[in-house]
Amino acid sequence: MPRPALRSRTLRRVKKRLPGGGFIIHYLKRKPSPAKCAVCGRKLHGVPRKSPSIIKKISKSKKTPSRPYGGNLCSRCAREKVKENLR
Ligand SMILES: [Zn+2]
Repeated sequence: MPRPALRSRTLRRVKKRLPGGGFIIHYLKRKPSPAKCAVCGRKLHGVPRKSPSIIKKISKSKKTPSRPYGGNLCSRCAREKVKENLR
């Protein structure tokens, strides 16, 4: 039985395989929810699902698609938005 603080589901459990074939449980923080499109609410691709402290360490090109509205709108909504702006 793990110690009381680790019995709650606040932390997620990750099974780590050991060299001998067994496994141990590592208790890690839960991942933040994935980034969503501002219009349709679909999950955004190319946006890492990491904590702010890790996000800070990675380069901008690895955090967001390098197109207009990248990281804010999904590709489909961005396409519509660009067409809308041309009118
Ligand atoms: Zn969208």
